[in-house]
Amino acid sequence: MIVMKFGGSSVESAEAIQRVTEIVKSRLDRRPIVVVSAMGKTTNRLLTIADLAVGGQRDEALRELVSLRDFHLRESGMERTVDEHFQELAELVKGLAVLGELTPRSIDAISSFGERLSSLIVTNYFQHHGINAVHVDSRKVIVTDHRHTQAIPLLEQTYAKLVAAIPPLAKQQVVVMGGFIASTENGVTTTLGRGGSDFTASLVGAGVGAEEIQIWTDVDGMLTADPAIIPNAHRVKVISFIEAAELAYFGAKVLHPATVMPAIDGNIPVLILNSRRPQVEGTRIQSATVLSKNVIKSIACKGQVLVLNIRSTRMFMAHGFMRRIFEVFDRNQTSVDMVATSEVSVSLTIDQPERVEAIVAELREFAEVSVDENQAIICIVGENIRHTPGVGARVFNALGGINVRMVSQGASALNLGFVVAGGDLNAAVQALHGEFFADLDPAVFDA
Ligand code: ADP
Ligand code: ASP
Ligand code: MG
Repeated sequence: MIVMKFGGSSVESAEAIQRVTEIVKSRLDRRPIVVVSAMGKTTNRLLTIADLAVGGQRDEALRELVSLRDFHLRESGMERTVDEHFQELAELVKGLAVLGELTPRSIDAISSFGERLSSLIVTNYFQHHGINAVHVDSRKVIVTDHRHTQAIPLLEQTYAKLVAAIPPLAKQQVVVMGGFIASTENGVTTTLGRGGSDFTASLVGAGVGAEEIQIWTDVDGMLTADPAIIPNAHRVKVISFIEAAELAYFGAKVLHPATVMPAIDGNIPVLILNSRRPQVEGTRIQSATVLSKNVIKSIACKGQVLVLNIRSTRMFMAHGFMRRIFEVFDRNQTSVDMVATSEVSVSLTIDQPERVEAIVAELREFAEVSVDENQAIICIVGENIRHTPGVGARVFNALGGINVRMVSQGASALNLGFVVAGGDLNAAVQALHGEFFADLDPAVFDA
């Protein structure tokens, strides 16, 4: 068995689903289990509709809903299924408009419709185009805790359900499931966080003991940098799980950061492939270390980061200072990405701005705090960083006049991360890409 996950752009239209059909057909002998994202930008559109509804723009929300329904109808032709789902959605949206409040639970209820629909649409398309397909509702097999919008899978129960439900079906049929969606033990719909369909695919892969997990997307694989900044970035042919996990965590959106965990557990290779160019080999992510003549494999980055500078109001940091700081972030359910300390101060970065006011207020009870907005994290990642002297010098040299606000190295040995002003992000990534990828090791990179 293999798992084949197709992202939003790979199922954005009837034409795209036709391409998916051909790709799946050519691999039927490997007994594929197909996981699909919502069609195109559906999740964003659903979240906008929910915001409009609670923001007092009920009519605008309902108009947007009609346009989203028309899109699904046009691309699928499944009148009854689409109508039923959108009737239910309209009820939800009207309810939200009355309440005027959006809870994480209702966000999940609404955003789940993207994958609920796309999985039915793809199943139906397969059935009409020569694939013996069967739909499985992911909410019946992926069990999570109650943390709506960021739910964490309960692995034991999820794997038990997957192994009972999927392999018997996959013997004869292509199982199609929605990514991203799940439910609590009590059957309340949850989601795994934005971009979470990759995570679904690896959970399914680990649960059924698949031989491979394929992530089909709109680029040729993992690239040496975000193609939005480096349009001619190179494909990385092979990379290790831990390198890929670091890159995903620090902003390489091509893979959801949680994806590698189940794959490592099950020792299942993950492939990243392009659904528009299926003939390209893609990127293979594997457990074995990948040696390369290049020091790094790729550059990840993430804009719109906040830096908090926290200064002890005493002359030095008393013991317990760090604990108090991190307790504040913990209470506010906000994760910290990068930390740097000196004798009297701590700087750290967060990428979730929602709770920043509350966090700053709590910190000010025992420290001086300033916040720098619009900062960016850049992270270079590669196994060789740990064996190669002088990497830091090359980075600072390449960056020339660009001001580096914070540096972090050593926490994982294979990454070097730093913070620059948001306005310097592109120039910094371009400079680093030129420095580290001028010569490419052909065993690891596609030139
Ligand atoms: P999908 O909808 O298939 O899940 P995503 O949009 O989530 O696709 O992820 C693919 C996108 O990730 C690419 O189109 C690209 O813009 C972006 N990306 C960012 N960093 C990288 C990188 N290092 N390598 C490849 N793609 C990257
Ligand atoms: N549809 C969800 C999102 O847009 C999950 C995914 O695409 O992976 O975040
Ligand atoms: Mg994605």
